[in-house]
Amino acid sequence: MYDVVVIGGGAAGLSGAVALGRARRSVLVVDAGEPRNAPAEGVHVFLSREGVPPAELLAAGRAEVARYGGEVATGEVVAATRREDAEGGGFAVELRDGTIHHARRLLVTTGLVDELPSIPGLAERWGEHVLHCPYCHGWEVRDEPVAVLATGALATAVHQALLWRQWTDRVTLVLPDAEPGGDDLERLTARDVTVVRGKVAAVEDAPGGVAVRLADGTAVQVRAVVAGARLAARAAFVDSLGLTTSELEWAGQPVGTHLPTDATGATAVPGVWAAGNVTNPMDQVIAAAAGGVRAAAAINADLIEEETRRAVLARRG
Ligand SMILES: Cc1cc2nc3c(=O)[nH]c(=O)nc-3n(C[C@H](O)[C@H](O)[C@H](O)COP(=O)(O)OP(=O)(O)OC[C@H]3O[C@@H](n4cnc5c(N)ncnc54)[C@H](O)[C@@H]3O)c2cc1C
Repeated sequence: MYDVVVIGGGAAGLSGAVALGRARRSVLVVDAGEPRNAPAEGVHVFLSREGVPPAELLAAGRAEVARYGGEVATGEVVAATRREDAEGGGFAVELRDGTIHHARRLLVTTGLVDELPSIPGLAERWGEHVLHCPYCHGWEVRDEPVAVLATGALATAVHQALLWRQWTDRVTLVLPDAEPGGDDLERLTARDVTVVRGKVAAVEDAPGGVAVRLADGTAVQVRAVVAGARLAARAAFVDSLGLTTSELEWAGQPVGTHLPTDATGATAVPGVWAAGNVTNPMDQVIAAAAGGVRAAAAINADLIEEETRRAVLARRG
């Protein structure tokens, strides 16, 4: 029986595991090994490790978990259930290969899946020439031509175009048949954003970057394409705990799903915490790591409470 099983070994899970190990808790991290930023060349805006390759950061995190006695296992959790038979509750965690681990508390840090629009050529270039977040990639394409595709809500695409304009004055907004509402067209024009109308047929290789091929055959050549994805919490197994993910909105628009928690990371099920992108899709790596530490401290406090309650009962005989 581990004190805590951490499900998901990205920045959030490994940070939580380090904090728990240092709190002298037995901890197992089960990780399927598919961090969200795997296609990226480096992790940016991570103080003191600026630009570190994602795999290198996670390898360092695993070594730090091990330094405090924590274990990391490769595997995919397919179910987790409360053990009514175990003293003080506890959970059984089942892996796809049939292995079962037991834990007094769970920390869910499984991240999210970026569900990309189905445009030929888009998914293959994700994280390299197809980008979503200017804080992660904007500096690398500063002053270069960038095309923002309006694949979701129009208001979001207008917001994205105006946002990327901070990094480059060569922004093209590719609109399907819809027209921007209110004064959006004026705002875009005032900020020198070029608006091109047409349905996107494909994203293709082009010298020095990529080309957005429109249905009428014309091509917009750019260094990078910006495309919004639906942010889907990676948490199918939480059903088995009696938890459900909720729809999430940003600026009034649906952006995906997440696992709701309170400010400490506690979910609606006692004994189960969550941190990182599975609960907050906007968390970058450093924020996901911070969420893991915050949840770890709350879990440790909860275990201390349980242990103190038991000690008092034992003392009273
Ligand atoms: C292309 C791209 C580039 C990015 N660049 C940056 C950047 O430069 N700087 C920055 O701060 N942020 C960047 N981000 C955001 C960054 O990826 C996230 O902030 C970060 O990955 C969130 O960490 P996490 O621990 O919550 O989830 P993840 O890093 O996604 O880790 C979750 C882990 O849980 C595992 N897992 C999932 N389900 C299960 C299961 N059932 N059982 C066991 N394990 C499971 C996964 O395999 C994965 O290893 C980028 C994102 C993308 C898409």
